[in-house]
Amino acid sequence: MKYISLNHNSQPVNFQTALINGLAPDKGLYFPEKIITLPKKIIDNIKTIDDTELCYEVIKDYIGNDFTEDELIKIIQKTIDFKIPLKKVENSIFSLELFHGPTLAFKDIGAKFLALCMDKIKNDFDSKEITVLVATSGDTGGAVAKGFEGLNGINVCILYPKGRISQVQEKQITTNAKNVIAFEVNGNFDDCQKMVKDAFSDIEIKNKIILTSANSINIARWLPQMFYYFLALKKIENNNQNIFSVPSGNFGNICAGILSKEMGLNIQLFIASTNINKTVPRYLESGIYNPKKTKPTISNAMDVSNPSNFIRIQKIFNNDLQKINKVIKGYSYNDSETREAIKDVYNSYNYIMDPHSAIGYLGLKSYLKNPRSDVNGIFLSTAHPIKFKEEVENSIGEQISLPSRLKKIMTKKKNTIEIESYDQLKDHLLWKVN
Ligand SMILES: *Cc1c(COP(=O)(O)O)cnc(C)c1O
Repeated sequence: MKYISLNHNSQPVNFQTALINGLAPDKGLYFPEKIITLPKKIIDNIKTIDDTELCYEVIKDYIGNDFTEDELIKIIQKTIDFKIPLKKVENSIFSLELFHGPTLAFKDIGAKFLALCMDKIKNDFDSKEITVLVATSGDTGGAVAKGFEGLNGINVCILYPKGRISQVQEKQITTNAKNVIAFEVNGNFDDCQKMVKDAFSDIEIKNKIILTSANSINIARWLPQMFYYFLALKKIENNNQNIFSVPSGNFGNICAGILSKEMGLNIQLFIASTNINKTVPRYLESGIYNPKKTKPTISNAMDVSNPSNFIRIQKIFNNDLQKINKVIKGYSYNDSETREAIKDVYNSYNYIMDPHSAIGYLGLKSYLKNPRSDVNGIFLSTAHPIKFKEEVENSIGEQISLPSRLKKIMTKKKNTIEIESYDQLKDHLLWKVN
């Protein structure tokens, strides 16, 4: 499989190169040169195929010959080694819980797959060490840290804004094995991102180390997100239509779902559920794509007003708004609607949702105004409620308890390097080679 740049000014590359590059040299997102249609035999027998094998069939043609079958199977096994339950919340409405991975958010799957792929190909870079550099406003950092933790020969540097992420998030970023270094930046998230950008455009760095990113536009984080759409439908027992509501920020997750549908998976419709940063729902309605300034919300992993992956969705539909509107509906909700949903669903169904998942639930409810027995409505639960403990507890009026996995991490001592300037970061990045 070759990957083209959606800016159309760079050469097509193979999986491995697209993985290391992250973005194409012309700053475009990579996109597979063709979308694979799965054999009908697989779609029809989805319920009887083993999980790993199914995921292998889904992704193998996108990887091409860069890995052997055996290598890819092992990567998949390690990527999906936690449960992904589909829970019935009310009539025709299901929650697909994607938060049972190491950092309790759905980003774990993509981060793990990316890390394991990189681990596999690192030896091709004649003894130069790979450094993965990411800035995080909270969730991505933890998922990337845990994905890469303990992989020899890959250093991971994570920049986060000091004092501006939650305690759980900070522990997940700062209590890992030696190859994961946490930089506590005296500044805000934009300052962190600026330093990362400076590093990527620094010629001296480029000459001395292999610097790569692990952000959500990387194809190796984007594509494996298809797995859980397939795994979800394995668990559905009827032959109803399936509708997925996806709490969306950067639109990577929903885009992977749409790709799954294009490959043949039985999904009728996607609901793009957002918070008040609703560029896409507005676009679907008006045809005008007009990002406004990003506003902070309680579903902060979706505080994105210019979602980078949307261009991939446009590509899938050849930029035809009518076609897009047949497959995607958009809805948006403010914080008080989100809180209300958390409370109502807890009171009525004894089910606890985090603010992001609650927005997914709300999208489904808006679309399925009345319950329909011929439809399965599935919303993606993208984070464990404990990650937004205070907000959730305030909404439901009760305490929620820490999963045992988190208890352990909360007692570990944090290990960080405090920095204020790009030069300090650069010294650290180069200290081994200078
Ligand atoms: C990142 C994130 C999202 C948004 O996913 P996108 O793929 O960026 O649309 C939703 N919920 C949670 C909890 C997240 O961390």
